[in-house]
Amino acid sequence: MIDVAVVGGGIAGVSAAGFLAREGARVELFERAELAAAASGRNSGAVQHPLDPVLVPLYRETRELYRDVLGLDDQPAGVLMLARDAGALGAGAGQLRAAFPDLEPELVDAPPYLAPGVAACRLRTGHPVVPAAATLALAVVAREHGAVLHTAAAAELWREGDEARGVVVQGERRPAGAVLVAAGPWTPAVVDPSGRWRPIRPVWGVNVEVALDHPPAAILEEAGVEAAVEGTAAPLLFSLVSAGGRSALGSTFLDAEPDANGLADQLVRSGAAFVPALAEARVVGARACARPQSLDGRPLVGPVPGVDGLHLVAGHGPWGISTGPATARMAADAILHRGAPIAAELAVERACGG
Ligand SMILES: Cc1cc2nc3c(=O)[nH]c(=O)nc-3n(C[C@H](O)[C@H](O)[C@H](O)COP(=O)(O)OP(=O)(O)OC[C@H]3O[C@@H](n4cnc5c(N)ncnc54)[C@H](O)[C@@H]3O)c2cc1C
Repeated sequence: MIDVAVVGGGIAGVSAAGFLAREGARVELFERAELAAAASGRNSGAVQHPLDPVLVPLYRETRELYRDVLGLDDQPAGVLMLARDAGALGAGAGQLRAAFPDLEPELVDAPPYLAPGVAACRLRTGHPVVPAAATLALAVVAREHGAVLHTAAAAELWREGDEARGVVVQGERRPAGAVLVAAGPWTPAVVDPSGRWRPIRPVWGVNVEVALDHPPAAILEEAGVEAAVEGTAAPLLFSLVSAGGRSALGSTFLDAEPDANGLADQLVRSGAAFVPALAEARVVGARACARPQSLDGRPLVGPVPGVDGLHLVAGHGPWGISTGPATARMAADAILHRGAPIAAELAVERACGG
């Protein structure tokens, strides 16, 4: 029998499988498509401070892990927050300085690649990575620890009354001591196929992959992206993250699944208003994926109240690459009955009316 069945092969599920297997658990992960098929392979690629005090320790732990697994630099490349209204940007920098002094927010001279009239505030954070790199590297680690990662294997929860008994995969029951659902925006559908319980919703993003002759080293983000944590960002906000010879130009914040190719021109146009070279850049492709947005913008981690053996790690919204592995470590600890209890701000209870 499997000790832990993990549902979902994104950053959350793959990291959890690795942490569990490292401690000697027999782990099998079931991914319905391929590893990093969804947001974990199609994100913008910014490992960065999430601008939420509850999530900051998760970011720090994740960044430490990436130093080993991805060879992340000690020094951040920096995030440039951009706006046309320098006054408002300065006021925002002051608020950020009060909340997160270690980010050292300061208005800087706009680099020459920015359009005239665009003001920039530098934050001391931000490591650009190839979007799928973290998940695929952690999959290697998980396999090295003995986790079995199945792809093209959609899983349903096998639940009897108040007990999670395992998963059903291709019609076959796979008993497991515990089930960890890490299915991103599809987590509620796995936990409650009736559709009544929906504490995580998809917020769809489109990124256009472009090849720039001189990609900026810093991560560029239009001011206002902070609101993405609460799920209240504008429908389109400029961002540009360059790694591995490609740049991810984003992004949208939409309730319904968009046609990525249909939005590519609009993203290039709005991006060129910040970085004029984007108007001439070669477009490699466009992709859509869904942010798993929880009701309060923070992930749901740990045991599901009232269902023995059922655990979650999902709902990381816009910052799952920057925080997902730390929450996966917490979920693994809870399954193994070790470590500190899950903090109330992250526990699943808050989405269960308890
Ligand atoms: C446009 C965009 C840009 C982003 N940029 C950044 C960024 O720069 N930095 C950052 O930190 N975060 C970013 N994010 C957020 C980040 O990508 C997500 O928070 C994170 O990838 C979520 O990971 P996950 O493992 O929880 O879910 P997912 O990556 O969605 O993985 C869930 C997996 O579960 C699988 N699945 C679903 N149902 C089943 C089932 N029944 N059986 C088996 N498998 C199933 C899916 O196929 C999927 O592979 C971005 C998101 C978007 C949309």
